[in-house]
Amino acid sequence: MEKISIVVPCYNEEEAMPIFYKEITKIAEQMKKVEFEFIFVNDGSKDKTLQVARELSKKDKRVRYVSFSRNFGKEAAMLAGLEASVGDYVAIMDVDLQDPPSLIPDMYNYIKNDNYDCVATRRVTRKGEPKIRSFFARCYYKLINKISKTEIVDGARDFRLMTRQMVDSILELKEYNRFSKGIFSWVGYETKWLEYENVERVAGTTKWSFWKLFGYSLESIIAFSTAPLAISSIIGIIFCLISFIMIVVIIIKTLVVGDPVAGWPSMICIIFFVSGIQLFCLGIIGQYISKAYLEIKKRPIYLVKETEKDNDK
Ligand code: UDP
Ligand code: MG
Repeated sequence: MEKISIVVPCYNEEEAMPIFYKEITKIAEQMKKVEFEFIFVNDGSKDKTLQVARELSKKDKRVRYVSFSRNFGKEAAMLAGLEASVGDYVAIMDVDLQDPPSLIPDMYNYIKNDNYDCVATRRVTRKGEPKIRSFFARCYYKLINKISKTEIVDGARDFRLMTRQMVDSILELKEYNRFSKGIFSWVGYETKWLEYENVERVAGTTKWSFWKLFGYSLESIIAFSTAPLAISSIIGIIFCLISFIMIVVIIIKTLVVGDPVAGWPSMICIIFFVSGIQLFCLGIIGQYISKAYLEIKKRPIYLVKETEKDNDK
């Protein structure tokens, strides 16, 4: 019998987990031809998420869990889930039911019957989201798709069902700074996109503040594009041209009109402007170096404190 692994990252989700479990088991009931395993990844929650996972796995042998030693972030949690999974197909889902479990049978059928390697989802609306956030999200997708060779689909969610082959490919990418939306696209394979309307979470609150999302988007640009590194060279060339023209203008002006020492205020402005640009470019390079530094350290991406096997003892 084939097996589907459902990977669920959870961070402070004690309220949402039982609801999610109820919904997903309903789907498992419907799909009699496949086995399921549910892997809850407790990403260092401060509430009772771990206790809920323990209880569920005591009650239901299909439930497994991996619990981190602290909060490592959703990217790390997804990786841990993929590494722990043993199914022939693996799905990643949020626990807040923003990823409708009712799509899973369809996703499975697309892979089985139409030979896709992956069925992914994207939201076509951003209903219930602050306007300003949607605006920045749209700008971000435009920008990253211009400067990155890897396509990052607008509105794509992490919710997807993949074949074992694709999961193994994803696990071959050992990078420390993980940006899954880019990695899924980078590995290639045939992907079918399902579209659906945004759903609001059933319980608990979102873990993403505006600034956290902003930082995440900057990191993804650094992870999947080297275009910002070229900015300093381009600005440098433009400034050389401007200064060259200015030199010529000043020489001619001095020869014709005289008055060689005017323009102290404008000089100060130029010095400030140019050194600002220099620091900006240095900062960009610094970002890449800091990421390379973290990669070189080769620290583990997450640390596991407990799994369902410890619970069985
Ligand atoms: N999550 C996680 N670690 C974190 C932040 C979030 O495992 O540090 C999980 C969270 O429990 C949820 C999923 O990632 O299952 C998506 O988070 P959330 O619903 O807060 O994000 P949103 O849907 O608002 O983008
Ligand atoms: Mg959510």
